[in-house]
Amino acid sequence: MEKTPQLCVMGGGLVGCLLSLYLAKQGYGVQVYERRPDLRRADLFSGRSINLALSDRGWRALETIGISEDIKKVAMPMYRRVMHDGQGNLSFQPYGQAGQAIYSVSRAGLNRALLNLAEAQPNISLNFEQQVLEVDVPTNRVTMLNVASQQEHQITPDVIFAADGAYSMVRLSLQKTDRFNFEQSYLNYGYKELTIPPAADGTWQLEKNALHIWPRGQYMMIALPNIDGSFTCTLFFPFEGEPSFKSLQTPAQVTSFFEEVFPDAVALMPELAQEFFENPTGSLVTVKCFPWQHKGKILLLGDAAHAIVPFYGQGMNAGFEDCTVLRGLLETHQNDWETIFNTFQEVRKPNTDAIADLAVYNFIEMRDKVADPRFLLQKKIEAKITGQYPDAWLPLYSMVTFSPDLPYAQALANGQRQEEIMRQLMGHIETEADYDKPQVQEFLKTHLSA
Ligand code: FAD
Repeated sequence: MEKTPQLCVMGGGLVGCLLSLYLAKQGYGVQVYERRPDLRRADLFSGRSINLALSDRGWRALETIGISEDIKKVAMPMYRRVMHDGQGNLSFQPYGQAGQAIYSVSRAGLNRALLNLAEAQPNISLNFEQQVLEVDVPTNRVTMLNVASQQEHQITPDVIFAADGAYSMVRLSLQKTDRFNFEQSYLNYGYKELTIPPAADGTWQLEKNALHIWPRGQYMMIALPNIDGSFTCTLFFPFEGEPSFKSLQTPAQVTSFFEEVFPDAVALMPELAQEFFENPTGSLVTVKCFPWQHKGKILLLGDAAHAIVPFYGQGMNAGFEDCTVLRGLLETHQNDWETIFNTFQEVRKPNTDAIADLAVYNFIEMRDKVADPRFLLQKKIEAKITGQYPDAWLPLYSMVTFSPDLPYAQALANGQRQEEIMRQLMGHIETEADYDKPQVQEFLKTHLSA
C-alpha cells in the first residue's frame, strides 16, 4: 500500500489555515505549525480591530469550504469609495455595478473562523507556538523552536507548504539554494492603524457601507467600517521628510497636523494622539521570488511567495486564489507533487507579478488621482462605456475585484489597452455630456465594436 505522505503547513495565518482545510478535504493528514499562540485565546490579544477588504476571488475560495455565508454575516459591504477633501466635502465613486461590493472583514475574526474549522477536522493537527527556524532543503529536515519552552526540535515532513508570510523562514532557507531568484522592495511609506470609534448610540459616525479615503497627494488615510460601529483608519505616510512619521514627534504636532489636513476625521478620533504613538508603524514590502517549489517537496504560497502592497486590497485574496488553483491541481494530479507544484508556479507567477505591479500603481491612484476632477470624469465616462459596451469594456478595478475567472495578468493587459483608448478619448471630453458627441461615439464604435 502506498505510504500516506506527511504534510506540514508552516504558518496558521489566513492562507495556511485555508490550505490545510483544502488538503484535509482531499484526505491528507496535515500538521499546521504556527509561531504565535492560538489567537482564539481572548486573554492574549488586544481588542484592536484590524480589517481587510475581501472580494470575489477570496469569497470563491471560502465558498469551497462552506463558510462564506457565515463570514458574510459579520462582514460590512462597501459599495463605493467616499473621498473627503481638505474642507470635508465629499465625492463618491461606486466600486462596480449596482449591488457589487467589496467587504470589510476582521482579520482576526476570519483567522479564528478558519482555525475553528481546521480544529474540527480529525486529520488536521494545529501546533501553536512552534516557530520554523530553518529548513535543511536537501533533506526537508526542519528545525523548530518551541516558543514557550525555548527548546529546539526537528521534524522531517515529506512535503512542506510554506504559508509563513512575507518574512518566510522557509523562503529564507530556499534563498541559499542555487539559482533561487529573490527581490524585495520597500515603499518609502509606512502605515499606522488608528480608530474612529462608534457614536455614543453605537452607530457609525461616517457612511457605513463605504471605504473612505482622504487623498492628499503625497499621502493618504483610508477608513474601513467594522461591525461594532467603529472604523479602522490606516494612515499611509512617508517615513521621512516633511510631513512624515519622523517629523511628527509630539501629541500637539500630530493633533495640529490632523486638524489641518484631515479636519472632518480628526473630530471623530478622540484617541488620535495616544494611538499615533502607541500603535506600531508598519512597513510596506513587495516580495517577488522564483522558483516557488523545490523538487516536489517544498512549496511557497501566499505572502511567502508573493507579498504585495495593500492598495488593491488583494494580498489575502490572491493568497486564497493560490489555494483555489492548488486545489484543482491536487484533484487532477493526486500525489504527483512535482507536477502539481511546477504547474502551480507556472500558472500563478505571472498573475501574482501582475497584481503586485497593479497594487503599487493603485497607491498613486488612491492617494493622488481620486482627488483630481479629470480622473473622476474619466471614471464616469468609463462607466458609460461599460453600460453601452458591456461585453467589450469592463473597468480595470472590476476585472481585478469582481471577475474571479479572469487571471490578474489578463486584467492588467486589458487594463493597459483600455487606458490607451481612454487617453485618446479624453482629448475629446470636457464634461460628461460630451460622451454623446458624434466623434466620441464614432471613436468608440471603431475601437470597441466586434
Ligand atoms: P500572513 O497573514 O502573514 O500569515 C503568516 C502566518 O505565519 C502568521 O500567522 C505568522 O504568525 C506565521 N509565521 C510567520 N513566521 C513563522 C515561522 N517562522 N514559523 C511558524 N509560523 C510563522 N489583503 C487583502 O486581500 N485585502 C486587504 O484589504 C488587505 N489589506 C492589508 C492592509 C495592510 C496594512 C497589510 C499590511 C496587508 C493587507 N492585505 C490585504 C494583505 C494580507 O494581509 C496578506 O496578503 C495576507 O495576510 C497573507 O496571508 P498569509 O497567510 O500568506 O500570511
